[in-house]
Amino acid sequence: MRVHTLKRAAVAFALALPGAAIAAVVAAPAAQADGCYTWNRTLTQGRSGNDVRQLQIRIAGWAGYRDIVENDGRYGPKTAAAVKRFQQAYGLRADGIAGQQTYSKLYQLQDNDCTPAHFTYGELDDGCGRGGWNGGPLSPAQTRQNALRTMWKLEALRKSLGDKPLDVSSGFRSRACNDQVGGASDSQHLYGNAADITSRTSSLCQVARGARNNGFSGIYGPGYPDHDDHVHVDSRRENNSDDSSNTTSWSAPDCGVGTTND
Ligand code: ZN
Repeated sequence: MRVHTLKRAAVAFALALPGAAIAAVVAAPAAQADGCYTWNRTLTQGRSGNDVRQLQIRIAGWAGYRDIVENDGRYGPKTAAAVKRFQQAYGLRADGIAGQQTYSKLYQLQDNDCTPAHFTYGELDDGCGRGGWNGGPLSPAQTRQNALRTMWKLEALRKSLGDKPLDVSSGFRSRACNDQVGGASDSQHLYGNAADITSRTSSLCQVARGARNNGFSGIYGPGYPDHDDHVHVDSRRENNSDDSSNTTSWSAPDCGVGTTND
């Protein structure tokens, strides 16, 4: 989304300049500029750094069935496989290498505040309407960052479902909000790691089944108590610092998504 705005701005700017200056402005690589984040090198397996971490946030929803992409800043096989799935989904050359074509698509997808095109911080912030990312167990900054990662997975799920809109009925919840709505005491909603999803165009079972491919380690949907009117998705695996409880938990019995803890 950002690129188009910048191009418009560049054209408007150029129109106000004499001829020689216009050539210089037009020659500038527009795709390099982005309001959220700009990558400065091609990334392949073996690379590491913050630019890899930034990439991982955005492709984590393409982890593949029952898998996740760690946000560890290391471009390993899982990151490469996720980049490849992202490229395939958007009709790019699928080589698992993050270069200009991949970045251009990401620039197009991300808004200036780094949220993906079809989701906003406002949709994810406090299901009880207070906002500000306050009142959870983590700092507001960390909570907001988790919500951002949740949104990029939702963007991938949305794309996988055929660009069908998804609505978030509950995202981050403060402790007070979580108590008010009767959430579990250790709910992933408290961490910004969860979203409750509804859809007017996809069935809840399509959402629940699809989410298994988009990096969600917690999924609850139709047939699971109190989840017949929405699908809960979360990222409990990444949120768990305790290695011994590296948990995946899925249950939507009416959809053939079995209760699984492994
Ligand atoms: Zn939920």
